[in-house]
Amino acid sequence: MAELTLDHVTKVYDDDGSDIVAVDDVSIDIADGEFLVLVGPSGCGKSTTLRMIAGLETISSGDINLGGEVVTGRPPRDRDIAMVFQSYALYPHMTVRQNMSFGLEESTDMADGEISSVVTDTAEMLSIGDLLDRKPGELSGGQQQRVALGRAIVRDPKVFLMDEPLSNLDAKLRSQMRTELQRLQEDLGVTTVYVTHDQTEAMTMGDRIAILNDGVLQQVATPLEAYHQPANLFVAGFIGEPSMNFFEMETQGDRLSGDRFDYPISQKTREAVGDATNVTLGIRPEDVELVDEGEGDHDFGTVVDVVEPMGNENNVYLSFETDDPADFVATIDGMRSLDAGQPVVARIPEDAIHLFDTDTGAALKNRSLAELEETEPRL
Ligand code: ADP
Repeated sequence: MAELTLDHVTKVYDDDGSDIVAVDDVSIDIADGEFLVLVGPSGCGKSTTLRMIAGLETISSGDINLGGEVVTGRPPRDRDIAMVFQSYALYPHMTVRQNMSFGLEESTDMADGEISSVVTDTAEMLSIGDLLDRKPGELSGGQQQRVALGRAIVRDPKVFLMDEPLSNLDAKLRSQMRTELQRLQEDLGVTTVYVTHDQTEAMTMGDRIAILNDGVLQQVATPLEAYHQPANLFVAGFIGEPSMNFFEMETQGDRLSGDRFDYPISQKTREAVGDATNVTLGIRPEDVELVDEGEGDHDFGTVVDVVEPMGNENNVYLSFETDDPADFVATIDGMRSLDAGQPVVARIPEDAIHLFDTDTGAALKNRSLAELEETEPRL
């Protein structure tokens, strides 16, 4: 177990003479025992970052520090880390027991009996104790992934590095394995860096999540902070499903003026906006309230375009004008039925809005977590 620090880490690939900056000056401190999820769209530099931590990729500049020691430049075998990949990379001709023992036999001086007992205990912990004599071809995808995990766990490393380990599994198994992996990591207390492009996985698994875009670190935060207090437009749009609604507006004194509607703002919001003239108003779908009638400053007449029933809730796509494509989405209770074409008043409460500087993307105003706890007490 150890803390892991990325200190201004940069990776530049040479692509036929032109530079590709895959990872751009990324610094993250990961605490001992922490589960950190690296998340972002495809090509944002997640795997490259992980591979640099593993020592599988050289670092163009910056340092990686593991347990108080700089490991930059050390080969993978001298870093005391274990990796789990999307492809299980099991040896097909070896049994589960042999796959799990192999690394220990090769790289440690543990006695055979000791290896055997570690492998058996780990296999029991992963509920694959009865599969030890089977070959990978005789296992389901989920079981193969458990073997790959087991192989990493028996090495008792300082850090686990996981690169989309669950993406080959079907949805149900994936969500089951998510919970199991989290419990396992908590029990073992091993510092873990987990890469995924799936924001749901990031939200549900991480102690903290690090959001990358285009090689640049956007924010490192707890899942709830990233959701309610995104640092910028990118994070706000990436985290959450359906995504946050955005409207481009211009500041005009005590109101924001947009193509579709004007939005009066309080003195407090004006102060948050400061000198910014082009702002983007963001509102989470669940914060849009749909009411039958309303003439308040933040009530807007809309028409239901499409209703997407999810069971527990309905995603209602709304247009400001009849027959226009939907402008935004509201999430409401699943038992409440609305019909396409039905007029409805959408309320966008000022305490729930986010504002971003459209030119820089930086957040100007977020809904505060303390405010949220006050308005929505949770038992
Ligand atoms: P992610 O894991 O987030 O999908 P990667 O870390 O694999 O992203 O890639 C980040 C960027 O670096 C991408 O633009 C990718 O095309 C580029 N890249 C990755 N590996 C190489 C390589 N060996 N040579 C050149 N460019 C690469």
